[in-house]
Amino acid sequence: MATSLFYVLICLLVLVVTKLPFVVETRRLAHPKTQYSNFLTDLEGLSKGQTAKGIPELRHYLKRYGYLNNEYSRDDNNEELYDEVLESAVKLYQTFFKLNVTGKLDSETIKVMSKPRCGVADNPVQVLSKRKLKEEAVDGTQQHNFINIVEDYAFFEGKPKWPYTQIRYRVDSGIQYPEGINETQFKTALEITGIVYTENCVLQIEEALEGHPPDVRTGFYRGDHGDGYPFAASTLGHAFSPTDGRMHFNADQDFSINDPIGPNQYDLVWTVMHEFGHVLGLAHTQVGNAIMYPTADPGVMKRYLSEDDIQGITTLYPWPPF
Ligand SMILES: [Zn+2]
Ligand SMILES: [Zn+2]
Repeated sequence: MATSLFYVLICLLVLVVTKLPFVVETRRLAHPKTQYSNFLTDLEGLSKGQTAKGIPELRHYLKRYGYLNNEYSRDDNNEELYDEVLESAVKLYQTFFKLNVTGKLDSETIKVMSKPRCGVADNPVQVLSKRKLKEEAVDGTQQHNFINIVEDYAFFEGKPKWPYTQIRYRVDSGIQYPEGINETQFKTALEITGIVYTENCVLQIEEALEGHPPDVRTGFYRGDHGDGYPFAASTLGHAFSPTDGRMHFNADQDFSINDPIGPNQYDLVWTVMHEFGHVLGLAHTQVGNAIMYPTADPGVMKRYLSEDDIQGITTLYPWPPF
């Protein structure tokens, strides 16, 4: 009797040990970034006049990222109706992301909306009106002299910037790092970012020395972290315009600083370079290869500033005259 009980215990032990990696793997797969697009899949193919359960979430998404006015109120009581105002917002979204402007929630639009992105809102009206002027100038249909002065980079309302060129950052204490990232790696990402900006513009970006107050305070946070802008599962990070200095990253995302980067991971250096752009005063651009483009691609490393980024930052912080 005692022997068979011993064998049962051994079998149970073997079962637990062999199943353990599976349990761990399941937890890894249950990462929140795989859940963000649930409401969007319900909406694919939808067009004006139709209804769907995911519509209130779509409305929230478009408001959050600057495509729908906060004062927007519906004409009727059906909050699941894809109405005309919502269709206009989708058209604006499609224009900004250079998709076919159908007003329909086609698969390409859903695909872009499903991408993890920066939590800072876009300013589509400002960016698109600048682009229109530039296109008219290139066409020669308008007699503007905008070819050399109208670019795609954008600034925040009122063009806020730092009143000096030495910007010091510090990592917040007591923060929770995402799986696979530690403080040393985070500091490496910040250091690379500092070097890249310092090489391309007049700014000098460095870690704040002990005892010196930093301009920029940064760290990883989760969900609602007390600054009025809770992270959605798809948010990579967000930052405040000058001279606030807060720059936050989503601890629930799968980041890496490795080369090559995993196919389902996001380059932490790319994300830090992007959010630092906001901290310095750059808003989102429509230029796909720019660091200030709102979305990021998994498995891709990007550690340089595009021509658009450089023109934006040097316009905001011009080189001193020689
Ligand atoms: Zn951003
Ligand atoms: Zn935050």
